[in-house]
Formats: sequence, structure tokens, C-alpha cells
Amino acid sequence: MLEKYEQFGIEKFLFEYPGISTTPSSVLGIFLRGTFNFTAETDKRGTISDQYEIEILVPFNFPRSVPVVREIRGKIPKNGDFHVNPDGSLCLGSPLRLLSLVNSNPNLVAFAEKCLIPYFYAVSIKLNYGDDFMFGELDHGNVGALEDYSLLLGLEEDSQIIQAFQLMGLKKRVGNKKACPCGCGKRLVRIPVKVATCSGRKLPLHRHHPTC
Ligand SMILES: [Zn+2]
Ligand SMILES: [Zn+2]
Repeated sequence: MLEKYEQFGIEKFLFEYPGISTTPSSVLGIFLRGTFNFTAETDKRGTISDQYEIEILVPFNFPRSVPVVREIRGKIPKNGDFHVNPDGSLCLGSPLRLLSLVNSNPNLVAFAEKCLIPYFYAVSIKLNYGDDFMFGELDHGNVGALEDYSLLLGLEEDSQIIQAFQLMGLKKRVGNKKACPCGCGKRLVRIPVKVATCSGRKLPLHRHHPTC
């Protein structure tokens, strides 16, 4: 079962975080559980070393879905002030940023460094000093943004939305040769444009496609 995750750096992850070990996999994916030790620093609050007991679900369709992380010792107050979602999972950043990050770098060590450590650093600072939650580059407060984009673009899968954003960044001539991210099999150029940004720049995507 672990072999599937080797390409995503699971061995290096387990080596770097020896307090974490694998548990029998479930239908959802693989669970990693144990003590997560880290050291990080910012100019504002200096160096922090701390540890959290966590459980990470790395879904079978990683990196098309983002790992789900829970803190299992009760050290982190389970509320929005500490960016804990109502279902008990940790809010590590805006869904779109997280997905974009794991898509561009599908690696568990990178996930730990860019998503977990900044979150835990912010929690430790808040617990120790009462500072406001520090928002890193992953941004927070955009929960639901993916749903918004999903509606706007007429795409259901998170990975399709990411792909759509990548397509929008392409020059029109290049983008028009690509396939529609919804999987309908049409090229973008054939699809009537129904969405435009405020600047008037057309998005090469259809909102709905009754024909596909
Ligand atoms: Zn958050
Ligand atoms: Zn389509």
C-alpha cells in the first residue's frame, strides 16, 4: 500500500518526522499518526519548537485531493479562532491555495513544510502569546471559494478548477488548442464563451454545456 505513496515522498516524510508512523489504510486513503515535531521562525516572534499529536489522512487520489489533518490530543481549541473546521479537521489555508500547492508540488514533505508547519507555528504563537492568528501565504478565510469557482465555471472536480485556472493563464492561441477541463472532449475554441472578467478578458470556458 505504501508503494503507491513513494512517488509522493512518504519515505522521506517518515524519516523527517520520526514521531509519525503509518497505520493500516482505510477505504479513504492512508492514515499517518503520531507526534509532529517542528521548529520554525519568523522575524516577529523568533524561533518556536513545539509538537502536536496529529492524524493525517492522505487520500487515495492525492494530489487531486488535499490531505485532511486532525489534532488528536486536544491541545488546539476546537474553534474558528484556531482555524479548526466544524468537522474537527484543521483549516490549513484556503482550499484553492492548498489544492494549487499540492498540485504543483505533490510531495508530503513539501506539504508538511508549506502547509503544516506554518499552521502549527501560528497556533503555537497564539497559544503562547495570544497573538492573532498569523496568516501565511496560504491565506485563510476563503472557505467556500472553490464552491464559488465551481459554480462560476460549471466544473465539479477541484482538479478541473485548478486546470481551468492554469488554462486561463495561457495565451489565447495556445489555450484554444487545449481540451476543455470538464472532460467533454471539446477543444476550448469550440465552446461559446459565457464568462468574462471585469476587465473584459474572456475566460476560455463554458458555464454549462447542455450538449456535452
Ligand atoms: Zn483557516
Ligand atoms: Zn466541456
